[in-house]
Order: sequence, then structure tokens, then C-alpha cells
Amino acid sequence: MKIVPSSVQLLLERLRATYTAEEARLRLSRQAERAPERTLRSAREASSANISSLWRQLGAAGVEIAGVEQELADQRTLEQAERYSGNIEAMVGTVKLPVGVVGPLLVNGLNAKGLYYAPMATTEAALVASYARGAMVATRSGGVTTALLNEGVLRTPGFKFSGLIDAGLFVEWVARNADELKAAAEATTRHGKLIALEPIIDNDIVFLLCRYTTGDASGQNMVTIATDALCAKIEQDCPVKPLHWFIEANFSGDKKASYIGLITGRGRKVSASTVIPEALVEKHLHVSIDRMLAYGEMANLGALLSGQMGAQGHYANGLAAFYIATGQDAACVSESAVGFTRMERREDGLFVSVTLPNILVGSVGGGTGMPSQSAALSLLGLKGAGHGAALAEVTAALCLCGEISIMAAIAAGHFSSAHEKLARKR
Ligand code: NAP
Repeated sequence: MKIVPSSVQLLLERLRATYTAEEARLRLSRQAERAPERTLRSAREASSANISSLWRQLGAAGVEIAGVEQELADQRTLEQAERYSGNIEAMVGTVKLPVGVVGPLLVNGLNAKGLYYAPMATTEAALVASYARGAMVATRSGGVTTALLNEGVLRTPGFKFSGLIDAGLFVEWVARNADELKAAAEATTRHGKLIALEPIIDNDIVFLLCRYTTGDASGQNMVTIATDALCAKIEQDCPVKPLHWFIEANFSGDKKASYIGLITGRGRKVSASTVIPEALVEKHLHVSIDRMLAYGEMANLGALLSGQMGAQGHYANGLAAFYIATGQDAACVSESAVGFTRMERREDGLFVSVTLPNILVGSVGGGTGMPSQSAALSLLGLKGAGHGAALAEVTAALCLCGEISIMAAIAAGHFSSAHEKLARKR
């Protein structure tokens, strides 16, 4: 009978080969005496002087900084340091990432219209080439049709009451005072609009789902500040007093894949699709429509059986590279990278569609004003006010390109050879 799983067996073998039990115990023990009395002192503002001060402190703390400081705190970074204020604390420099470009990508959207050149920052070889191939095929097929279907960024405070009755009375009060609560929230922002208040009761706890449109910003800060004001109004005026409450009760799906995001959306929900004529599938993707559909069928079953949230190939690849290049919050890839990819045979070719319900992008705010991120948005032609919705549609269109290319590579049997050629044969 096997009583030690192989993963545990492997760990035990490795531990025994390296340490005695006593050495391992000592190594893992707490060592409060080793905590330095002084931590790093950093000013809030990013500036050349503050960056240099941190490097001096790191050097004094015994960190090897020769060659390291020059690379992170290069001349250009020091000259533009102030532009990073409000985006980073304890700034010591910038990390350079290679940026590739995918395009021309023809988008026929409700908001995005025309040819786009999309910047993608990544260290993963084959990624940009793959998305570029998808963009080439989609564009030659007449472009990507996109539509922003819905929008609304959630913040979800939670309120605990002494019992179910108080929870119900609270919800009744919220419903009666919704207009005042909306006014309190919207007083904090020119662009944020509270579009729905959705209470969810779980016995003596009420989750108050606050859903906002956020103009051209991705809006996470905006909805937090607005909801804080809404909660302050509740605290001040509501006669039904909670025992305690929290600004975010972990219901919004902020920075994690969630069913609420998948079903109701968080941020912008976009569908993007194209129909690729059979001749182009064969010429550029080197595969037949039947084989694409056979792969799609198996991939959907794989998604279902493995418990995937949604069913798609690799939205995260495109989203991470695009979010990083354009100054979006890269951690939001965790929630944005859910959705559904579909393929069907149509009279005029292979229909491929993606729907992403949680695209969190902004053409203003967040990291979009930083030097290279702002330049990347300029390259795309979507920098500044008036472009938030178009940016979301281009994001989905880009994901569609990635799906077309990866599904074709796997269906054609080129998945491994493409990576080997581009990543290994340097
Ligand atoms: P933000 O930079 O905090 O706010 C956007 C700013 O742009 C607001 O001051 C807004 O003014 C202004 N603005 C000017 N023109 C606008 C327009 N046309 N549309 C919309 N806003 C316009 O950015 P954010 O999008 O609210 O938040 C994004 C950041 O939040 C990301 O960097 C992310 O890392 C971070 N984040 C925060 C939380 C959190 O809980 N606080 C969670 C996750 C991520 P008005 O406000 O007056 O409209």
C-alpha cells in the first residue's frame, strides 16, 4: 500500500540529501535578532534625488550595487523620474522590457474603427509572432468585428448586522435612499457614475454590490474612492447600524477570476469575431477548417473537464503583454483572462469569436501617463480622453488574433516547432 505520495517522497529525499533534520529546523527557525534596526527610508515622491538616496542606502546595507544601479537607474529614467510619482513607492529605477508591435490589425468596432498597431511587452519568444500572424489573417479576412456589450466596475462593501431582520431593514433603507447614496458617491468624481446598487443578503451579512461606469479610466481607484463616500453616507444617515463593515468584502472579483465577473462582467465586456475564408485558413494557417473545428471541440471538453472558468486558449498572454506595454494594471490579467472562444463553420469560412467580460483598461489614469506607456498608447492612437471604449475593443480583437494563431498552431502540429525555432534556436 502506498502511503507517501510521490510528490512528498521527492521533497523528503531532497531534504535528506541536503540537511540533517536539526539543520533544517535551524534554517527555518525565526531569527528576530537578524532584523536590521533601520529599514530603508524613502520619500513618497519619485525624483532623481530620492532614487539616488535609496541606492546609497542599499549600498550602505551591503547590497552589491555596482553595475546594478546604472542599469535600473539609467540617465533617461533619472531625467523623467517625476513622471512616475503616483505610480510607485520607493522607486529605484525602471525595468526595460522588449516591446514588439502587432499590426496592421483592422478593427471594425462600435468604438474602435480602422487599422491599429498594438504594442506588446513580453519576454516570451514566439508570442508577438503568433499574435501578428493572427492579426494578418484577421485583417486579410476583412477585419475584426468588435462591440462593447456592457460596462461596470464593481466595488462591494460588506455590512454585518446583529441578525437577519436588521440586514433586511438595512436593504430596505438602501433601496429607499439610493438616489442620495448615488449623489454621495458621484460627488467624488467627474467621470464615475453609479449605475447599479445590488444588495446580496447572506443571513446577517449584506454585500452591497456597487457598479460604476468610469469614463475612459479603468476605474479601480475611482470606484474605491466613490464607494468610500457612499459608505460614509450610510454610516451617517442609516438608522440600522451595522456591527461592523468593510469597504471591500471580497465579492467584486477585483484581481481574481470569479464567477461574478464571468457572468455579470467587471470592467468592460467585449465580443470580437471574424470569419476567415477557407482559402486563407489553408494558405496562412496551414490547416483545414475541419481540423480547426476538431481541435476546438476537444479544447472545449478539456476546459470543461479541467474546471476552467470559461473556455479559451491563452488570453493571458496577449493581455499581460498589452497591459504592461500600455500602462494598465498587469495584476488585473488575473480577472481579465477569462471568457469564451468559439469556432463555427459558416458559409463564407471559419467563424471565430472571443468574449471577454472583464476587460480592465483605461486610456487615462493608472499607469497610462508614464513615459514609455504613454508613448505605447500614442503608437496605438488611443492615448487620452475619449478612447477608453475603443481601447477595450482593440484589447479583445488582439485576444482573438492570439486565439486564431494558437489554435491553428496546435491543430496544424506546429505549436512545438514554432517555439523551438523562435525561442531556442538563437
Ligand atoms: P486614477 O488615475 O486613479 O483615476 C483616473 C483619473 O483620471 C481621475 O482623477 C479622473 O478624474 C481623471 N480623468 C480625467 N479624464 C477622464 C476621463 N475622460 N475618464 C475617466 N477619468 C478621467 O485611475 P483609476 O482608473 O481610477 O484607477 C486605476 C488604478 O487603480 C490602476 O493603476 C490600478 O493599479 C489601481 N488599483 C486600485 C485599486 C483600489 O482598490 N484602489 C484596486 C486595483 C487597482 P475624476 O475622478 O474626477 O473623474
